[in-house]
Amino acid sequence: MNTCGFIDAAKEESIEAILDAAEAAHARGARVAAVGCLVERYRDELAAELPEVDLWCGLDTAPLLAALGEAGGEAGDRPVGDALPVPRRPRPVSAYVKISDGCDHRCSFCAIPLIKGDYETVPAGEVLRSARAALAAGARELVLVGQDTSRWAQPGWGGVSRLLGELAALEPAPEWLRLLYLQPEGVDSALLEALAAHAVPYADIPLQHASGAVLRRMRRSGDGAGHLALLERVRAVLPGAAIRSTFITGFPGETDAEFEELVAFVRAAGLAVAGVFVYDEQEGTEAAGMPGAVPRELALERAARLGEVIDREAEQFWSGLAGDTVDVLVEQGASRADGRATGRIALQAPDVDGRTVLTGRRTRRGDLVRAIVRDSLGYDVEAVAATGGT
Ligand code: SF4
Repeated sequence: MNTCGFIDAAKEESIEAILDAAEAAHARGARVAAVGCLVERYRDELAAELPEVDLWCGLDTAPLLAALGEAGGEAGDRPVGDALPVPRRPRPVSAYVKISDGCDHRCSFCAIPLIKGDYETVPAGEVLRSARAALAAGARELVLVGQDTSRWAQPGWGGVSRLLGELAALEPAPEWLRLLYLQPEGVDSALLEALAAHAVPYADIPLQHASGAVLRRMRRSGDGAGHLALLERVRAVLPGAAIRSTFITGFPGETDAEFEELVAFVRAAGLAVAGVFVYDEQEGTEAAGMPGAVPRELALERAARLGEVIDREAEQFWSGLAGDTVDVLVEQGASRADGRATGRIALQAPDVDGRTVLTGRRTRRGDLVRAIVRDSLGYDVEAVAATGGT
């Protein structure tokens, strides 16, 4: 069971998942291992509280691989896929490829550097190998992830622009390349040109707030005016791009006026989608114990209000697509010509964004279908296959 230790909700969900996995595993005589960030951070406490778990390993998975090797009766260094029978899964339509790990930023609310450590680049060769494997397995979209993807660089090899170019030139080539988690400082003209040349028109830029004072307390740069200028630069190079962001309400000391700055920014930003999180104090971070704690009720109220503003503003973005010609990547095919398939257009990222319902054509999972947008409902899109489209 892989775990997350980023915020309290993720910790609770991870513990529930471990308990469910332990029950299911032990019922059939199997063992359960818990790995990942939550274990890395709280291994001793977890081991004392959850005797159900047979093996604990944090970010170092060598003990797990050794155990899998023993379970398969083979050498411990065999790949996991060779050691155990792999259940049949549907062909992956999109695949995540990790290009970096850890973070050199020190946002005062964030526990990730405490868990993952400093920024580390995944070497180009490894990224390309993972990408080739995913494409060979049928993925049509590669989604590049890391805590801070825009600063990817390998000395003597090049930066993220070259990486995107090499990935786009793979055989078979990805239909879509998507780069997530662009920290605002890293969004420069070179990156935007590389995105325009090789990736989908999608910019995921976590901004967290728009009040300069709050951002300074968060140990982040910028302010609302700077953010708007950044978004303008993005749109100048990636016209029509979907811009996604995330925001935190109730950060220590956030006043009514500072929150209103955030609301005003969101009204002006034209975002396609944004996540809103209520500040969640994490032990060991600089913000834990900062003065000016915002009552949780108030932070929740602000999050709800900001969410409503975001929904209203985003509706303009999605309804503005009506009549556009798009490609739909089918994730769940329709068996009959008049059936409804579901998938995504390039402006929708997997797992976090809305979906597209496609009608008018028999389709299969993994098809990329030319279509016309008919309508939108919230963050979802309805499209009909174009006559003679592919
Ligand atoms: S940039 Fe992201 S991962 Fe890095 S410290 Fe800030 S919030 Fe955490």
